[in-house]
Amino acid sequence: MWLERTKWVLANIGWPIAFTFWYQIIVVLYAADGTISQWALYYFHFLWIIIVCSYFSASFTPPTKCRDVEKVEHCDKEIKEDVCQLCNYRKPPRWHHCRRCNLCVHRMDHHCPILQLCIHSGNHKYFLLFLVWPLQLAIFTIWHGYYDFWKTIRSVYTAEILSTSEQLKGTGVSNALMVGIAALYLLKNQLPNLMRNQTLIEESRENTSYNLGSWQENVKSVMGAWTIAWLPFSVTKSREKKFE
Ligand SMILES: [Zn+2]
Ligand SMILES: [Zn+2]
Repeated sequence: MWLERTKWVLANIGWPIAFTFWYQIIVVLYAADGTISQWALYYFHFLWIIIVCSYFSASFTPPTKCRDVEKVEHCDKEIKEDVCQLCNYRKPPRWHHCRRCNLCVHRMDHHCPILQLCIHSGNHKYFLLFLVWPLQLAIFTIWHGYYDFWKTIRSVYTAEILSTSEQLKGTGVSNALMVGIAALYLLKNQLPNLMRNQTLIEESRENTSYNLGSWQENVKSVMGAWTIAWLPFSVTKSREKKFE
């Protein structure tokens, strides 16, 4: 467990630093040479704040643990008999045992090796926001810096010497490109499941459907009402009322 905990702590330090460094490269360098508008700067600030908030919300929202199931009122008798063979707690539908965390968690999606945490009913929304908002930051960075990226690529072939500022911009845009591709790839797997109210585990192992009737209702069950869907505000209470 200490190894998992250490990896989680390192991720908590590394990710915010990585995003702050990226944001600072863009803001400082582009603001310094005046190639970015005031509104674009404000938007960069907004993106950075919301990304860091989404990350910490995902990281510090604990899962509903199996032992808490005792409090759930809507389980029928048959379901109450299900016991996890690994931790010996009751395991109603949509609870899954995570071997890395060594506990059963509600609506487990997967144990994320990049963020070093379990994605479950409590933090799934924040995890999705941590894909959607960095994707926007990546698009915004590429939009502003595609020429610097091109110059960096070109310099490899022409042996042109770039200034430190140009090199940093090229690095920032390369970083944005990698993060953008990774976020798109993960969203390609996540969004169809979000629209079906299904987790990755349920997609691969179960035949049960938890579809609420329409993709809008399915999305809202994870993201909350449309007004707060794309902001890192909790929807756990209303969701648990609905499903448990
Ligand atoms: Zn278990
Ligand atoms: Zn886990």
